[in-house]
Amino acid sequence: MTKKTHIAVIPSPGFSHLVPILEFTKRLVTNHPNFHVTCIIPSLGSPPDSSKSYLETIPPNINSIFLPPINKQDVPQGAYPGILIQLTVTLSLPSIHQALKSLNSKSPLLAIISDAFAFEALDFAKEFNSLTYLYFPCNTFVLSLVLEMPKLDEQVSGEYKDLQEPIGLLGCVPINGIDLPTPTKNRSSEAYKKYLQRAKGMYLVDGIIFNSFFELESSAIEALEQKGHGKISFFPVGPITQIGSSNNDDVVDELECLKWLKKQPQNSVLYVSFGSGGTLSQRQINEIAFGLELSGQRFIWVVRAPSDSVNAAYFENSNDVDPLKFLPNGFLERTKEKGFILASWAPQVEILKQDSVGGFLSHCGWNSILESIQVGVPIVAWPLFAEQAMNAVMLSDGLKVALSDGLKVALRLKYEDEEIVEKEKIAKVIKCLMEGEEGKEMRERMKSLKDSAANALKDDGSSIKSLSNLASQWEKFGGI
Ligand code: UDP
Repeated sequence: MTKKTHIAVIPSPGFSHLVPILEFTKRLVTNHPNFHVTCIIPSLGSPPDSSKSYLETIPPNINSIFLPPINKQDVPQGAYPGILIQLTVTLSLPSIHQALKSLNSKSPLLAIISDAFAFEALDFAKEFNSLTYLYFPCNTFVLSLVLEMPKLDEQVSGEYKDLQEPIGLLGCVPINGIDLPTPTKNRSSEAYKKYLQRAKGMYLVDGIIFNSFFELESSAIEALEQKGHGKISFFPVGPITQIGSSNNDDVVDELECLKWLKKQPQNSVLYVSFGSGGTLSQRQINEIAFGLELSGQRFIWVVRAPSDSVNAAYFENSNDVDPLKFLPNGFLERTKEKGFILASWAPQVEILKQDSVGGFLSHCGWNSILESIQVGVPIVAWPLFAEQAMNAVMLSDGLKVALSDGLKVALRLKYEDEEIVEKEKIAKVIKCLMEGEEGKEMRERMKSLKDSAANALKDDGSSIKSLSNLASQWEKFGGI
């Protein structure tokens, strides 16, 4: 039998989908250099600067093919990011197929790994007799839900948000219908149809690689494996983030925000950020500004220009508008001793690594949460869209649910759709996290999760073993 060692990796566009699968690929080629990998990269128009500069850092031992970008005019304007991401891949399928054919003719493809949004590309695997894997960039809680989705769709009538009882997923905290991911909010929407289609597609793959680790979600991972789910093998390989892999310390040490953070006392600064694309209304920006002021705490805040859509910045550069002009009058002057403002984008992993950062007010994107865990920083959860509310529930209602004491590592800001979170509530929750007894306890728990995360990535750690199991599966199939 000819030995196969060649793997194709297909990310999908959007910073927080592109980076995790490429970081996984880096770890794969570092730990298992006998495989060679080519990334086939779709994009929607010209990628935002953040994605562009990240793509420049792909190491030479990973080949990359940049596909012709999809024209922004060919996708619905202002659609939900999940729709845009999936549509970009769908429209790129002919060029993905072409790229796979050409790669396979040079060196037969052992496996194709695609991001969850690029699953349609896995249909081509039959033609090349390759194994198929999904890289799912979220936690086990969300993965368990998605795998349950086809059944829920059959069993539940009406909208999920109207369910009277929470949904119980094996090994996970109960979840209310209202906290399910955005595409489930309206079952007749296009976003829901695509979500369900992705969920059904998951059952066709040989394996699912996902960004969690055993010590974080032991009962959920065990339940997933015990349940079987047909022929699918599960590989928790996380945490996969840029913490530990970015080695541009010298360059970023020159940044003013980091110089400022280095001068602040330990655990004294709250980092405020809503991810790579989260946006807030003008009224909400004002309330946060006043809330921060009222809390009396030190802060570093990534401010974006306001929008009434929560994800307006996901595929855009916002450098043409100065977001600072949307802050309340006199705010910068009044808070200049205690606060540092960044316009639109922050070197997040470098910020979180500073000893002075003691809390993170976060929209609860999974990458941000893992980054926070890896440095032991507790969270104020302010979910905006996608599966962020589920992540917030997981953090605030208890990790390691099999244990009697849930590991609460976040304070959850609860608010209804459309509602504005008022400054008093913001100030109270910030003070509680930064100064209160509860905040102190959560910081301690986060420190123990930080150790677990580091252990999972040691040579004999759970995630590195899981990666080796994946490699063994390939070696067997590839005749290596
Ligand atoms: N990020 C960053 N600077 C910013 C905002 C975000 O470096 O100003 C990075 C962050 O470190 C994380 C990713 O972008 O790795 C955001 O991913 P997440 O899953 O948290 O949220 P999303 O962007 O998908 O909403």
